[in-house]
Amino acid sequence: MSPPRALVTGGAGFLGSHLCDALLGEGYLVIAVDNLLTGRKANLQHLRHDTRFDFRELDINQPFDCGKVDYVFHFACPASPVDYMQHGIDTLKAGSLGTLHALEIARKYGAKYLISSTSECYGDPLEHPQKETYWGHVNPIGPRSVYDEAKRFSEALTMGYHRYHKVDTRIVRIFNTYGPRMQLNDGRVVPNFMKQALRGEDLTVYGDGSQTRSFCYVSDEIDGFIRLSKSDEHQPVNIGNPTEFTILECAKQVLEVTGSKSKIRNEPLPQDDPKQRCPDITKAKTLLGWEPKVDLKTGLKMSLEYFKAAAQ
Ligand code: UDP
Repeated sequence: MSPPRALVTGGAGFLGSHLCDALLGEGYLVIAVDNLLTGRKANLQHLRHDTRFDFRELDINQPFDCGKVDYVFHFACPASPVDYMQHGIDTLKAGSLGTLHALEIARKYGAKYLISSTSECYGDPLEHPQKETYWGHVNPIGPRSVYDEAKRFSEALTMGYHRYHKVDTRIVRIFNTYGPRMQLNDGRVVPNFMKQALRGEDLTVYGDGSQTRSFCYVSDEIDGFIRLSKSDEHQPVNIGNPTEFTILECAKQVLEVTGSKSKIRNEPLPQDDPKQRCPDITKAKTLLGWEPKVDLKTGLKMSLEYFKAAAQ
């Protein structure tokens, strides 16, 4: 029997490329597609001689077809606030047109489907920690709405294809994730602080740094995706680390791990920046037997070599 074929949209991105590695490890033949708007070929360099792997540069906002596949992993979308605000229209298109085209492929070939959604669906949450049943508190017209609403729409479209077209879908709500292959300049807090610390620049803490996030190391996150891909759950599942840190605490951990003498400097808090974010992972635990293993300090240490090389 020939091995199953998986399509990964956004395969040259931070999470997409790690997912390609994991799927090859699971015995899939992998086709990665990416328009390289925010993804980078460098993330897939190590696979260039692997005959089980195929990369195609294309834009999923146009209809496309890479032949019969057994699984569609839809991960294409700018994902850092700096990126999605710079590429607002492309982000809205990835959530709508891109998601439609990815779902059409799953429908055409009877493939299973998993979409990367986000904790941003919860917006600036009024419920804490966030359970999958929480409907969220999102500004539909604010600067982050190009991402938040695109992802909320892509969840609705996914559930629509599941209900009306019987596509075998899954939705993962991803919380803040970090690790090697993150772009140094994508503006997210971990690469920003690592870059600043390693270059001896001030760490820019937005606001007073009391806002919280919960950081998941990339290997834990990918393990959650693989487990969800094998499950029959169609409703969204949170995958993220439930240990919550203030952004100031995160800055201090980065200083400790890098041994940097950089100072902390406060800058204005961006509009609609969520004040707190922490997943309730009861569902992932019970349903998938999943929970993260790597704490923030360990994950930062495991990422250090990558960030050192990138910051040079
Ligand atoms: N942040 C910060 N300094 C930075 C980058 C980000 O204080 O140099 C803050 C940001 O305001 C937010 C948190 O860190 O409260 C996480 O931001 P990120 O862009 O990583 O992702 P988000 O969780 O907001 O999507």
